[in-house]
Amino acid sequence: MITFRTRSRLLDTVGPLALLGLAGCNTGPKAEPADLIIVNGKLYPGGGAPTAEAVAVRGNEIFAVGTSAEIDTHRSEATTVIDAKGGTVLPGFNDAHVHFLSGGESLDRVNLFDAETVGDAQQAIRDFVSSAPDRPLVLGRGWLYGTFPGGLPTRQQLDEVVSDRPALMECYDGHTVWANSKALALAGITRDTPDPPNGLIVRDAMGEPTGVLKESAQGLVNEILPQPTHEEKLELIKKAIRRAQSLGVTSVQNAGMDPDEFELYAELERRGELDVRMYAALSAPPGFSEEDAARYEELLKLHPGTPLLKTGAIKMFADGVIESHTAAVLEPYANLDATGIPNYTVEDMNRIVSMMDGKGWQIFIHAIGDRGIRMALDAYAYAAEAHAPPARGRRHRIEHIEAVSAADIPRFARLGVIASMQPFHANPIPNVLEVWAVNVGAERASRAWAWKSIKDAGGRLAFGTDWPVVDLDPRPGIHTALTRRTLDGKPEAGFVPEQRLPLEDVLDTWTAGSAYASFEEERKGTLAPGMLADLVVLSTDLFVAPIETVKDFQVETTVFDGRVVYSRGNGAASASP
Ligand SMILES: [Zn+2]
Repeated sequence: MITFRTRSRLLDTVGPLALLGLAGCNTGPKAEPADLIIVNGKLYPGGGAPTAEAVAVRGNEIFAVGTSAEIDTHRSEATTVIDAKGGTVLPGFNDAHVHFLSGGESLDRVNLFDAETVGDAQQAIRDFVSSAPDRPLVLGRGWLYGTFPGGLPTRQQLDEVVSDRPALMECYDGHTVWANSKALALAGITRDTPDPPNGLIVRDAMGEPTGVLKESAQGLVNEILPQPTHEEKLELIKKAIRRAQSLGVTSVQNAGMDPDEFELYAELERRGELDVRMYAALSAPPGFSEEDAARYEELLKLHPGTPLLKTGAIKMFADGVIESHTAAVLEPYANLDATGIPNYTVEDMNRIVSMMDGKGWQIFIHAIGDRGIRMALDAYAYAAEAHAPPARGRRHRIEHIEAVSAADIPRFARLGVIASMQPFHANPIPNVLEVWAVNVGAERASRAWAWKSIKDAGGRLAFGTDWPVVDLDPRPGIHTALTRRTLDGKPEAGFVPEQRLPLEDVLDTWTAGSAYASFEEERKGTLAPGMLADLVVLSTDLFVAPIETVKDFQVETTVFDGRVVYSRGNGAASASP
């Protein structure tokens, strides 16, 4: 026993010395060669300050971080050298909340996110139709409630631009769809169609459908959509991967998919084409049963997880959204005598959460209104009472958290629940100031997207975009988190400005915070020896830029798994936010 210990200690000290001696034989001290180095950067390893200039990579791992001179000693003839030219070097962005396949689909649809008026939206649709006049169906997404007088569009407004074929325009939040008359007719929706459970066919004073379908009522028209084939879906995902790479996003976390979609990523991984790290939460709708759980456990057994693809999480939807009054709130909306629509009963949510917690799964719950958020926290507290935590610990999450009750802010830290938030949702455009804030009323709006309060109370944050709800580009959301202003600087005082975060916190949340949220902080989210070589080189030094201009960086180079997968000179330029 003693001999063994002595020997091992001896090896520990002699090993490196012997290596140094060997290297020093004939060419002087020579460092081990790198496959790739990045030099002359402002390297931010995570957790406080940019402390280095350069990094060396071998295979798919970082093996040294230091000054440019230190790292240059690892250069050999075969080394790929990237000159960061003074730009910031960060761990790759990790988007903690996306819908990746829908994101890929959105790249092929009319984008209404920038439309500020009905006329803008109609023009964007007209332009899209004339660019591809043969489409049998016109699909779009991204419109905002605040764009339309009264907060909702009408089928007549859509008929004015597309009347000869069905047109469906999904709201940016995915909770409402705007259909033209042709689409309603094809789906058989008339004044006599009843509202489906958890859904609403909006009707005018005469009882006629207006063309707006909320929540599950969207399913009535979605049935007329042609389903992409298996190969088309793989292509959409590959398109989404290229988009991610061009934005410096190297990891994504999918907030809800079915097992069939999971198999698409597994197939790409087998083909060596999954060039983004995917963490997948599988959907667990109301009534999710032991049998459903058994199917997910089977899938997890087949796919226990690799550095590229893993699951082990479920996604639930506690409520809807504030803009359409479907988020569950404790007190009625300020402008409507209603408290929203929780999707699960308390008993059903507690049962599902406790069942999956007991099996060691992580749980994501979409919860936006203060009642939805409280239901989710209560369900996590209920599960914590019912079982001991699994070996890896509990890291349950709440997604969105738009209007939290003051009493619930400290519960995130107390219960170890991660606040997974999407800063650009708080972008204070008219949709937020004139629809969102008016719906919840001033008191609740004073805690709008309260990431700083949750963090100050000891809670952990993860950031993302909710792509395609907003674009996958992290820059606009970084700007919102830093300034609480729009991209053109409004309102000057900021929207609930006490929720601003310093740059280091914003970057840490979008990298290390997100990595923690998927149990992967040991492999990614910071730059240190042994970490996966997922890096992004930016065009500017974020740490000297005035806060208003931080968002103006370009992604120069994206390194994924040790390989350059995007460089601005060669790939499609990443546009301004
Ligand atoms: Zn989402």
